[in-house]
Amino acid sequence: MMNEYGGPDVLALAEPELAEPRPDEVRLRVLAVAVNHLDADLRSGVSRMDLRLPHVLGREIVGVVEAVGDAVVDRRPGDRVLALPNTPCGRCERCLAGRANLCPRADMPGITRWGGYARHAVVAGRGLLDIGDLDPVLAASTPISFGTAWRTLYSIGRLAPGEWVLAPGAAGGLGHAVVQLAKLGGAHVVGLVGDPAKADFVSALGADAVLSTRDDDWPQRARAATGGAGFDVIVEHIGGDVFEAALGTLAPTGRMVVAGGHAGEHPRLDVIETFRNEYELRGSRSQRPDEIARVLALVAAGRLSPRVDAVLPLADAAHAHRALAQRRVLGKQVITP
Ligand SMILES: [Zn+2]
Repeated sequence: MMNEYGGPDVLALAEPELAEPRPDEVRLRVLAVAVNHLDADLRSGVSRMDLRLPHVLGREIVGVVEAVGDAVVDRRPGDRVLALPNTPCGRCERCLAGRANLCPRADMPGITRWGGYARHAVVAGRGLLDIGDLDPVLAASTPISFGTAWRTLYSIGRLAPGEWVLAPGAAGGLGHAVVQLAKLGGAHVVGLVGDPAKADFVSALGADAVLSTRDDDWPQRARAATGGAGFDVIVEHIGGDVFEAALGTLAPTGRMVVAGGHAGEHPRLDVIETFRNEYELRGSRSQRPDEIARVLALVAAGRLSPRVDAVLPLADAAHAHRALAQRRVLGKQVITP
């Protein structure tokens, strides 16, 4: 629980009263909750999203249903479920138009309500996916990283077999999902890492080549890896210099899909190159429930493997946030309360 914004140490253990679910909610006994960069941003107060304090973080929650609100007819105690990070309202114009990821009234554990850094979590009864006998740690590692990878590569990027993908931040939560999902779809992938020590990990995920941004000529080498043609899809979530250089490695009509930008939220955009090459620049926000269901099924089938960097007790939440800040994490960290 956090009582104020600040560094990792504002995350403190507490024993809040056990909450009863309202009619449209269920209470979960939390089995696993994944740690996200967004959690750290919410904690430090730089996320541009206001929290009601005290607050409990935790967006990717897997648990066992232990209490069911009267209006929830399709859930029973004992169900093993993943709670969607964003449960759309299902009624607004955007939801009805198939753009549920943009729902302005989405229910978001860890943001609009208390999340899963806890032994118990009350969540929306409509926003649950069955996980069957899938390992809760793997299930919790899936929705945001792999759901976003699916959305950026396929729903928005329209990636086709044989095309080339550039994956900046390829050793992180989103990046390692992009590499795997792009390879699964028959694409060629160049992974980009900061620390060259992470290159072996990215190669093992199936990347055709791995480059380090510490080499100034990485954009030339990346383009050379494609045979000179450039990339068809780039899933960009670094920002700053990487955004600017990556744009120049696109093939004509290439798609750059933006899902983050911590290293610089206001990069320069080469307008001339953008229109001459008919580049597409698109943002990607959260995930639709069907996108998460797809990747969850692929994880359950063993076709995708979320890399779990560490499984930690609740008391080590601050430690997990420090590891993220120091860029020491390969894949995902998961808390098992
Ligand atoms: Zn809606």
